[in-house]
Amino acid sequence: MTGRIIKIALDSPLDMEFDYRWKPATATDPDPQVGQLALVPFGRREVVGVVTAVGDASDYDADKLRDVIALRAQLPPLSPDWLALCRFAADYYQRPLGEVMLPCLPKGLRTDSTVALDRALKKRAAAAAPPKAPKKSRAAKALSDAATEASLSVAASIPATDIDAEVPVPRAAPVLNPGQQAAVDAISASEGFAAHLLFGVTGSGKTEVYLHAAQAVIARATGKGEAAQVLILVPEINLTPQLEASVRARFPQLNIVTLHSQLAEGERLRHWVAAHHGDAAIVLGTRLSVLAAMPALKLIVVDEEHDPSYKQQEGLRYSARDLAVWRARQLDIPVVLGSATPSIESWQHALNGRYRRLDLTQRAAAQAQLPRVGLIDMEVNKAPDGLSSPLVAALRARLERGEQSLLFLNRRGYAPVMHCDACGWISNCRRCTAFMVLHKPERRLRCHHCSLELRIPQSCPTCGNVDLQPLGRGTQRVEEHVQVLFPQARVLRIDADSTRRKGSAQAAFDAVHRGEVDILLGTQMVAKGHDFQRLTLVGVINPDTALFSPDYRAGERLFAQLMQVAGRAGRAAVDKGSDGQERRAEVLVQTRYPQHPLYRALLAHDYPGFAASTLEERRSAGLPPFVFQALLRAEAKQLQAALDFLQAARELMPAEGIIINDPVPMTVTRVAGVERAQLLIECASRARLQAFLKPWLAALREQKSRLRWSLEVDPVDI
Ligand SMILES: [Zn+2]
Ligand SMILES: [Zn+2]
Repeated sequence: MTGRIIKIALDSPLDMEFDYRWKPATATDPDPQVGQLALVPFGRREVVGVVTAVGDASDYDADKLRDVIALRAQLPPLSPDWLALCRFAADYYQRPLGEVMLPCLPKGLRTDSTVALDRALKKRAAAAAPPKAPKKSRAAKALSDAATEASLSVAASIPATDIDAEVPVPRAAPVLNPGQQAAVDAISASEGFAAHLLFGVTGSGKTEVYLHAAQAVIARATGKGEAAQVLILVPEINLTPQLEASVRARFPQLNIVTLHSQLAEGERLRHWVAAHHGDAAIVLGTRLSVLAAMPALKLIVVDEEHDPSYKQQEGLRYSARDLAVWRARQLDIPVVLGSATPSIESWQHALNGRYRRLDLTQRAAAQAQLPRVGLIDMEVNKAPDGLSSPLVAALRARLERGEQSLLFLNRRGYAPVMHCDACGWISNCRRCTAFMVLHKPERRLRCHHCSLELRIPQSCPTCGNVDLQPLGRGTQRVEEHVQVLFPQARVLRIDADSTRRKGSAQAAFDAVHRGEVDILLGTQMVAKGHDFQRLTLVGVINPDTALFSPDYRAGERLFAQLMQVAGRAGRAAVDKGSDGQERRAEVLVQTRYPQHPLYRALLAHDYPGFAASTLEERRSAGLPPFVFQALLRAEAKQLQAALDFLQAARELMPAEGIIINDPVPMTVTRVAGVERAQLLIECASRARLQAFLKPWLAALREQKSRLRWSLEVDPVDI
C-alpha cells in the first residue's frame, strides 16, 4: 500500500468534505482512522480537520491532491456516535459539516501545534492511578463505590417506618418525597430511549431527582461491568458553580468536569479530554457541552429546558435541548428535561405522549409553601419613582424583620432613553434603529445593540437646552431610588453591567447567601436557580411591555421568568414570627393590566392552564409547535438590497406546500450601520420543510451573492 485517500471535514463555509492523500512515513504506520484529527494544508494555511472517511478513490485527480501533514494519533478517534450527531446537526440546521465539528472542539485541538494537547494528555496520565495499576482502575473503583452508595440510597428512600435501624443512611443523599421517588424510579427504569419531562414547581427538588437518577444509571452500568457517563446541561454559566458544588458533594469519588465558554483554554481542553476518554463520569456544562465527545454516555439531563440560552444565536444556530433529545434517541438512552415552566413545544410533546411527564407538585423543604402572588394595579397606585406604596410598605416590613427582598426589573442601565423637553430630541443611536441607554454611574450613553458609547451630553445637541431628562427606568435608577427611600438598607444590584468582571457575579450571589444584602435588585440574572434562604419578598417592576411584543413567544418567556423569579421566595420552611403569625413569602407584581390572563394564571401558579391557552392561541394562529419555521436573514448597507436579495431567494425554486412570506425588515432594522431583513418560511410538516431547504440553499449558494446571509431552522426570535 503506497497511500490512502482520506476525506476531511474542515471549518470552511464550503459545504463539502475535502480529499487528501495520506502516505505512511514507515511501512508499519497504522492507517488513518475515521474520527481522527488531522493537520492538513488548506490554501496557504495549515488547519486541523476531522477524518470522515478513509478509502482509495477520489473524484479528483489523485496526483493533484495534497498530503496530510500529520495525524493526531495521540488522541483516540472521535466516536461514530459523535460523528453521527454532528452530521445530523449539520443536515438539520443546514450548515457545512466542518462548521459544526470544528468550532465545538476546544481551541487547543484546532491549532497547528500539539503543545496544548500533549500537555493535557500528560496531565491526564499523571493524574491516573498509581503507575502499576491498570489504567482504568481508578474510574472503575469510583464507579463501584458509586454503586454501593446508590444501593444505600435506595434503602434510604424507603419510608422511614420500614428502615431497618442498622442500615446506615448516607448523609449526602436526602430522603426523597414520594413524587421525587416516583420520578427517579421512572427514569432509572427506562430501557433504551425515553424522554421524560420533569415538571416541578420551583423549589420542588428537581436537582435531587437528577442526582439520584444519575446515581442509579451509573450503578446499573457498573453492575453490568460497563462504563457510564452522565451529561447535565444547565442554561447559565452562573449556575454551574452552584450545581457543581452539589454534584461534587454527592459524588466525591467520581471524576466530575465542567464545560463552558468561560473556562480557561487549558482547563477546557483538559475537561474535554477527560470527557472524550471516558474518565469523567459526570459532565456538567452549558449548551456547547451537548456536543462533547462522551463515549459511555448513558443519561442526559437538561435543566430548565425552556431557557432561551439553550439556543445558540450565531454560527450553528442549534437548540441544545433538541440536540440532547436527538442524541439520547440515537444512543438509545433516557433524557430528562426539567422545568417549572416547560417550553410550549415540550409541553405539547408531553400532551401527545412523545414525552413522558413526571410531576413534582410539592416543594422539597418540608413546610415550604409556594409564595402568595399579589398584583398591584398601577392605574390605581401611581408611582412616579417606579415603586408603588404597597411595594414600598412590603419592603419596609422585610427590612424591619431582617428578611431579604428581591426587586426584579428586566432592564439594565439608568433610563432606556434621554430626552429634551424643549425640542423633542431623543438619544437615538446613530448606527442602529435603537435608543442610546443612559448609564448614570458610568456617565455614558450606551447602545445595547452595537456597543457604541458616548459621554452624556451637557446640553441638547439640537437646541442647546441644558435640562435633558431621563425617560423610563432601568435597574440603576431603581437602585438610586431604593437607596434614597431606605438609606440604612444594604442594597445590591446584579445585572450585566455590575458583573462585567469575571467572578464578580459569583461574589455578588455569595454576599446574598451570607445575608449581607437586604434588598437585591436585578435583571433576569437574579431570576435563575439561586436558592436564597432568607428571601421572603419578590417585587416585579414594569413587566407589562412583554404583553404587547410583536414576538409571539414573549408571553411564554415572561410567564416563565415571572414564575422563576417568584420561585426565589419562600424556598425555606415557613417561619413563625414573634407574633406567632405564619410568614408566607410574597410576590408583588406592579402592572397596569391586572386582569390579563397571563397574570391570572400567575396568581394561581397555574402553568398547565397558561400552557393550554397558549397552545390554543398558537393552534388557531398557525404558529409553532403547529407549524415548522425557518428564517432567512440578509444584511446590507442598503435595506432595499437586503429585501431584493430575499425576494429573489423567494422566487428561486417552486415550493410546494411551503409558505414563503414576504421579505420584511427586522424589528431592529439597523445595527452598527447594517440594514437587516428577513424572510419567514413555514410548513406544516418538518420533513417537507427539510426536504425543501437543502436544494434551496444549494441554489442560493450558487448565486454567489456578496450579501451576508444566514439561515436559522426553528428560529426563536422573529
Ligand atoms: Zn433640544
Ligand atoms: Zn447602536
